[in-house]
Amino acid sequence: MDLMMDHKFDIAIIGAGILGIASAYYLARSKPSCRVILIDAGDPLALTSAQSGNNYRNWWPQPTMVGFMNRSITLMERIARETDNRISLTRRGYLLASRSADISAQHNHLTAVFGATSGTEIRVHTTPDSAGYQPPVSPDWENAPDGFDFLTDQQAIRRHFPSLSHEVRSVLHVRRAGDVSGQQLGQFMLEDCRARGVRFQRGTLQGIDRGRHYDLAVETSEGTIRIEAERILNAAGPFANQIASFVGVSLPLANVLQQKVAFPDYAGAIPRDLPFTIDIDPQHIDWTEEERALLLSDPASARFASQMPGAIHCRPEGGDHGNWVKLGWAYNSDAAPPSRSPNLDPRFPEIVLRGAARLHPALKAYYGKLSRQMVHYGGFYTKTSDNWPLIGPMGAPDAFMVCGLSGHGTMAACASGELAAAWLNGCPLPDWAGNFLMDRFEHSEPRVLADEGLL
Ligand SMILES: Cc1cc2nc3c(=O)[nH]c(=O)nc-3n(C[C@H](O)[C@H](O)[C@H](O)COP(=O)(O)OP(=O)(O)OC[C@H]3O[C@@H](n4cnc5c(N)ncnc54)[C@H](O)[C@@H]3O)c2cc1C
Repeated sequence: MDLMMDHKFDIAIIGAGILGIASAYYLARSKPSCRVILIDAGDPLALTSAQSGNNYRNWWPQPTMVGFMNRSITLMERIARETDNRISLTRRGYLLASRSADISAQHNHLTAVFGATSGTEIRVHTTPDSAGYQPPVSPDWENAPDGFDFLTDQQAIRRHFPSLSHEVRSVLHVRRAGDVSGQQLGQFMLEDCRARGVRFQRGTLQGIDRGRHYDLAVETSEGTIRIEAERILNAAGPFANQIASFVGVSLPLANVLQQKVAFPDYAGAIPRDLPFTIDIDPQHIDWTEEERALLLSDPASARFASQMPGAIHCRPEGGDHGNWVKLGWAYNSDAAPPSRSPNLDPRFPEIVLRGAARLHPALKAYYGKLSRQMVHYGGFYTKTSDNWPLIGPMGAPDAFMVCGLSGHGTMAACASGELAAAWLNGCPLPDWAGNFLMDRFEHSEPRVLADEGLL
């Protein structure tokens, strides 16, 4: 191997997905003199970050994640404002629908988690006129309400959301939520980084040596080059553990494949102004008796004929004037080795379609005849056991990590990048910083999981 010492940097970031790029963006802004290089085996934003559903929300089960996501959303809003909304930030909210009229558990939980957050109102609308409820008629994020609305009157639910199943008896409308173009967000930050002198090197990191500095062996199309860096940041997404192993560290991460499907909604089944909806109730998928028997006859598919978990999601894709719809269902929980081209399950499109049709009955028009234009895609949720990220020192000298962002790395990119930059530059850290370190697994009680299925 011909190694030439030809590049010297203060910080080398391994991985130019949304998290590596966001970290470079906040590093370059907070310390312009810092020499930063982003290294990626492929094009920037082309691996997991290209698979994101691009949804965001500040609704989380624990105050730590609420604070973290609120910060990230505030930073995204700042970029939206600075760029005349190049990042297509919208805010129609998240709609969590249930066939149960009993909202007490959700209400108590919201009060416990958000009660201390100033200005966060929890409004309950129990009458057919749903007085005071502001429907999500516009995608505009700047004038959208904050807080939470419960609708518990079926007439009101039908009036505001006529396409939902008439079985629905309550909806929770999370207002600081919507979607964003993760690709535009990443491109904007990358362009800003380049203008501030951040370098990009295409190549695969093959190994790391450490003498006085880190020496990174990077295989490029022109051969192997060697990059010298004072500090390194591991932002390698599903491959974060491989990078950690180069410096003798093992990260508590697993990779779990999740899939989505998008197709043109020629039947107009999903209104263009419908917020991102989640059917939170478990269900038995709507198979015919014949289909059910076939599924049960194969142990590999029998689970799809049994009770399935809730949290199917659906949203219009392509804006108010588009006609695509996107469906997802994060029911897989099996860890798998990371791969750049994961094996998708060909049964997934029909499974998620049938599941989603329970809340959106007009989707039944597509049973057995999804369009050839359909796009079926997926990627890994790289996650810890509590589904909180790993951001901070990695366990080797001058080595840092920003990984384990599971199904929320797009929405958390800005706060994660800002936090990683603060660790690297020795800047003041926010309150939640200590919660995202590895030592939490040594001494803390198991936490309520951070609801990865709800994305
Ligand atoms: C199906 C799906 C839906 C999702 N939906 C949402 C959503 O709605 N909202 C949301 O907020 N999040 C969502 N996510 C999560 C989000 O997409 C991820 O958390 C985020 O993209 C992770 O970014 P990353 O930069 O860590 O990883 P990646 O984008 O995978 O980037 C890692 C980079 O590291 C590079 N790399 C790895 N190893 C090496 C090496 N040895 N040498 C050089 N380069 C290397 C890779 O080439 C890659 O470009 C979703 C994820 C999936 C899979």
